[in-house]
Amino acid sequence: MSEQLDMFDTRDYDAEAEAKAAWKSRMIPAEWVAPEDCMAGPAGTVVQGWKCPACGKIEINGFVLSINHGIDPDIPGREDLLDHCISMDLRRVS
Ligand SMILES: [Zn+2]
Repeated sequence: MSEQLDMFDTRDYDAEAEAKAAWKSRMIPAEWVAPEDCMAGPAGTVVQGWKCPACGKIEINGFVLSINHGIDPDIPGREDLLDHCISMDLRRVS
């Protein structure tokens, strides 16, 4: 069954904008420094990125923060991820 379209547009845009602004105010902008030559530029290039509020790791942009830590700075999400990080680190198996 397909989703019913809303012809009368009953979304509460003010509430959505308020929730988005509240979420965005909890995000932490941070400078990300390229550890090696990469798509951002040569090693040492500084890019405005985002810091995970749970683990503190700085990512190059909101998309990488989203896929690695589950938090998108632009899209309000799960409150529990603000103090519980879901990122994983690769570790050498010996
Ligand atoms: Zn994290």
